[in-house]
Amino acid sequence: MTTNTESIFSFIDTYAESKEELYLEAIVEVCQKWLSGETQPMLSETVTKEDIRRGIQLAVLKGMKKNVQPNHQMTPDSIGMLIGHIASKLAAGEGNITLLDPAAGTGNLLYTVMNTIGNDITATAVEIDDLLVRLSAITAELLEHPVTFYVQDALRPLFADPVDIAISDLPVGFYPDDENALNYELMPAAGHAYAHHLFIEQSMKHTKPGGHGLFIIPANLFESEQSSVLHPYLKKQTIIRAIIQLPDSLFKSAAHAKSILILQKPFLDKKVTHDVLLAKVPNMTDKHAMALFLQKIDIWAND
Ligand code: SAM
Repeated sequence: MTTNTESIFSFIDTYAESKEELYLEAIVEVCQKWLSGETQPMLSETVTKEDIRRGIQLAVLKGMKKNVQPNHQMTPDSIGMLIGHIASKLAAGEGNITLLDPAAGTGNLLYTVMNTIGNDITATAVEIDDLLVRLSAITAELLEHPVTFYVQDALRPLFADPVDIAISDLPVGFYPDDENALNYELMPAAGHAYAHHLFIEQSMKHTKPGGHGLFIIPANLFESEQSSVLHPYLKKQTIIRAIIQLPDSLFKSAAHAKSILILQKPFLDKKVTHDVLLAKVPNMTDKHAMALFLQKIDIWAND
């Protein structure tokens, strides 16, 4: 039997393959037709938001392979689901949760998190690439998630209210706009700033006191050349709550390995100290080890 995810993928794929234009552009077009009711995939009555997200994600992955976009890699589900799990624990018992993803890309990470947290959640998404914003905006509409989009350099002034949780799969590398980078504490005394550092600072600036930032970071973040500016910033402006190492098997090589950094914005003048959770995600195919790991995360989040 065909699953809803497969039906959605084949509905989008059949349309996109029949068109001359860029595959990713055709995805936006067919999703607009789906939204307006002009044409629709054959779905069972029990279709879920995750079915819809995954179906569109498969088509976007195919589109990205056709036109290689090295700077726009979609956050893989294995990592997105883990961030979703952690975010839902941090949001537990709270209503009207607000999220910010300042480097939203296709929205795959953001919607994985929104689907995991459930209802009563709104988000702000920022992305510099216009096509990715159109893709993620149409996906948000099909998922019925309330998301406000900003198509801009997220490191320029951001006119968005502070949120409960900022999440980001950080774009890694140098930020070329030195003049703008001078507005950040994380601008080094010499040379260009690291974009991934500035994204952390910008996200925490737009987080409410007591709110959290969940970042997918290069695993060597704390040993890099510019860590001497990062350490004092983190100490002064944030509380480091956890550093979670992701399994090497998820990445092409050790040099590409990533971790999850969880920060909390202190409550105004009160900076309480907590133990930092240092953990390593086990092999994700080992169900027993994963269950134990998630238990550890849940205990930490309840704390
Ligand atoms: N989480 C996203 C997803 O699931 O599709 C993937 C994020 S990808 C690793 C990083 C994104 O940051 C890319 O889409 C890139 O276009 C965007 N980006 C890079 N520099 C940016 C900037 N200065 N302002 C806004 N977006 C930026």
